[in-house]
Amino acid sequence: MRTSQFKNLLAQLPQLSAEQLANLRAAADLLHQHTQALSSIDAAMAGAGCPHCNSFKHTKNGQGRGVQRYRCKDCSRTFNAATNTPLSHLHSKKQFFQHGECLQKGLTIRQTAKELGVAASTAFRWRHRFLESVVEHQPKDVAGIFEADETYFRESQKGSRNLKSPENSVKTRPARHHGGKPPTGEKRGKSASRKDLVPVLVGRLRGQPYIADQVLG
Ligand SMILES: [Zn+2]
Repeated sequence: MRTSQFKNLLAQLPQLSAEQLANLRAAADLLHQHTQALSSIDAAMAGAGCPHCNSFKHTKNGQGRGVQRYRCKDCSRTFNAATNTPLSHLHSKKQFFQHGECLQKGLTIRQTAKELGVAASTAFRWRHRFLESVVEHQPKDVAGIFEADETYFRESQKGSRNLKSPENSVKTRPARHHGGKPPTGEKRGKSASRKDLVPVLVGRLRGQPYIADQVLG
């Protein structure tokens, strides 16, 4: 839009009713989220190779669903920044950030589905794609000062029909809520009973934003 046209648009805003203003704001927000998601996808492409053959020789090859497409000069296949990522085949890319926020807030699948206006099965699929990608994006090698520590999580048997007791694999234990305190009498920390705790090594490279974690045997 030309600057003069934009100025005219702004000058007309005071004529809007409160309802029209609210509608305009909602439409602008949605558009903003959409462009933000798309520009993040394109920015992620900077310096990345072909997801099929890792070649860095590629040229722009038109747009698809508002995202820049590329053609690899080596394998001739086309791709965009979302190819082979949790975003590929995600039609509503504008909901990418909203979905990330729901994950951050720790919402359940059903709450996420309600918030995004999608089916619970869609929210479930997205969540698993995001979580898989976190595992894939852990650094394979690190160099520098690596700070590591062990931490313990209570074992989750979510989805299991019979909850195995840590002391006796035949006996079942009562269900408990997510997280929570250890049963009365059970100590916390290093001296705690670790029969139903899963040890996890968490590490971070000093000065780098990456966190690596590994479940220990
Ligand atoms: Zn290629």
